[in-house]
Amino acid sequence: MSPMDPKDVELQRAKAETEDVRASLGGLLRGRRAVITGVANDRSIAWSIAQAFHAEGAELAFTYPGEAMERRVRPLAESLGAKAILDCDVAKDDDIDRTVEEIRKVWDRVDVLVHSIGYAPREALAGRFVDVTTRDAWRIALDVSAYSLVGLARAFKPLMKPGASIVSLSYYGAEKVVRNYNVMGIAKAALECSTRYLADDLGQEGIRVNCISAGPLKTLAAAGIKGMRDMLAENADRTPLRRNIEQDDCARAALYLCSDLSRNVTGEVLHVDAGQNIVGVVSMG
Ligand code: NAD
Repeated sequence: MSPMDPKDVELQRAKAETEDVRASLGGLLRGRRAVITGVANDRSIAWSIAQAFHAEGAELAFTYPGEAMERRVRPLAESLGAKAILDCDVAKDDDIDRTVEEIRKVWDRVDVLVHSIGYAPREALAGRFVDVTTRDAWRIALDVSAYSLVGLARAFKPLMKPGASIVSLSYYGAEKVVRNYNVMGIAKAALECSTRYLADDLGQEGIRVNCISAGPLKTLAAAGIKGMRDMLAENADRTPLRRNIEQDDCARAALYLCSDLSRNVTGEVLHVDAGQNIVGVVSMG
């Protein structure tokens, strides 16, 4: 038998190592029960998270806001064997309460809650912040995008045991001015701050609360923000890794934050943005 080329040996070793890592990761969420909010279609960040959680052994329940969304969400949810698919407009307390009651009928506990919800009236996402931010836009954006994390956490708390985890999705516009993101930036700042207050409260019950600050992605929610397409192209040039992220990057981070890999991490905002947030002035030229 002729000896193997050292390059092939190295390749085989690397492949075996990757498979070992995969095998040890498979089942990270085995037996965990996860409620996923915010799937609108197969480009949704929540959909990537759901697929990753399913692959790691989690049982899933999904929520959607209203009948029109149900048509899109139900087939996706069913394809992952969803245990429940429930109508929940997070702007309505009754919907949140009913959702928890319905979940109780199928599960005696919830281990993971994914909050992947954002909304502001379209008129507030184009133009000068000072001009387009009406009282109503402010109220709606903060209610749906930020208060809902608090409302859902309170409602699901009785079902969550030590080791449970809550994760939500934020964006850089919470920290720095991103033109046209406007009132959503305020809502995301409130979401990130609520993450810290919730983490402190729920930590006493062994429940962790974290947030992923994701780089820009082409999804339905993002389509409402003026100038998004140009921003995506520009962003890819500006990040340290010289690229944009993908939905799956958020899913990997969510896996970390919702599994025991991060058992002593809470109240954190984890940037999944190819490093975008560390960059100041890009060119001195
Ligand atoms: P998406 O449109 O797929 O998801 C947004 C979801 O919010 C939809 O499923 C929608 O049904 C849900 N929603 C809106 N109003 C609701 C209500 N009243 N009750 C219940 N659900 C409601 O878009 P996405 O980009 O996957 O957004 C998911 C999360 O990620 C949002 O919080 C968004 O702000 C955040 N995020 C997105 C980006 C991006 O560039 N796409 C970047 C960072 C953070």
